[in-house]
Amino acid sequence: EAKRLNKNNYRTYGSSIQQTLEDRMKLELSLRQAMSKNELSLFFQPQYAVEDMELVGAEVLLRWNHPERGMVPPDVFIPIAEERGLIGEIGTWVLDEACRQWKEWQTSGIALDQIAVNVSARQFAHGNIPQIVDELLQRYDMPASALELELTESCLIEAPQEMFNTLSELRARGIAIAMDDFGTGYSSLSTIATMPVDTLKIDRSFITNLTIGSPNEKIVTAILMLANSLEMQVVAEGVEQKGELDFLRSKQCHIAQGYYMARPLCVQGMTALLRERAETRYKRSA
Ligand code: C2E
Ligand code: MG
Ligand code: MG
Ligand code: MG
Repeated sequence: EAKRLNKNNYRTYGSSIQQTLEDRMKLELSLRQAMSKNELSLFFQPQYAVEDMELVGAEVLLRWNHPERGMVPPDVFIPIAEERGLIGEIGTWVLDEACRQWKEWQTSGIALDQIAVNVSARQFAHGNIPQIVDELLQRYDMPASALELELTESCLIEAPQEMFNTLSELRARGIAIAMDDFGTGYSSLSTIATMPVDTLKIDRSFITNLTIGSPNEKIVTAILMLANSLEMQVVAEGVEQKGELDFLRSKQCHIAQGYYMARPLCVQGMTALLRERAETRYKRSA
């Protein structure tokens, strides 16, 4: 009985690995064509100042609308793009499209203060991010302060000195640097403290069910204290409940994003939100 179960389990296991490999190869092939077929698009998740809930920016999130599979999440295709050497091309497209969109909103008089773009470790390893960004800021006549780049702790592991140099170069231009998913990586506190980073983004897992007396309370409080003494800004990501936001406000966390305030929005949705904000401001001042 045990033997049969084992055999069955093995078979299932074996075929599911094969399935995964086939799946990945198919995905890789279609990912290569996704850009030319206009299947990639950007979504924008609003970021709010916790104190007064003013909209202060948006995180740019890549979406792939696959003709047969529907929406493929970035967690699935970004790793494939990284492995197969496609991340440079895709990442440059994201940066270009994000800046172009920022400019379009600015021209319409509804500019966002800041857009935050995710940059993967491999993309940084190409080493040409500062040049790409220079070109884009010039092309779209966009101030460097309107752009924030998000990286994860994994970016710091392989070549910390090179990373330090690249981040310093970007920062010298006035581009903000945010450490994404903070608290889940393996970088040492001394690395974090010495890296030219402006913002810590507290990982969603620490925000979930965050209230006074909750297990996550101490972690979040400690991160806020650390950020304060390093003079870094803090963004809490994945805020889904009022209680979480209330806690963050009581601890003077600066910025929050999450489903409780707003889900990631398509361009039309974000444009509508920016229009609405502009009208409210106009009415207030009239
Ligand atoms: P991330 O940068 O940490 O992005 C936050 C993720 O959390 C997004 O998932 C977002 O939709 C989701 N999220 C936001 N608020 C909530 C919430 O309240 N609750 C829950 N459960 N989830 C929330 P998404 O868009 O699927 O992106 C996943 C990851 O893929 C991102 O994590 C980022 O690491 C990566 N990614 C997305 N776009 C890009 C890109 O353009 N370039 C690169 N290199 N990576 C990207
Ligand atoms: Mg991010
Ligand atoms: Mg910012
Ligand atoms: Mg994150």
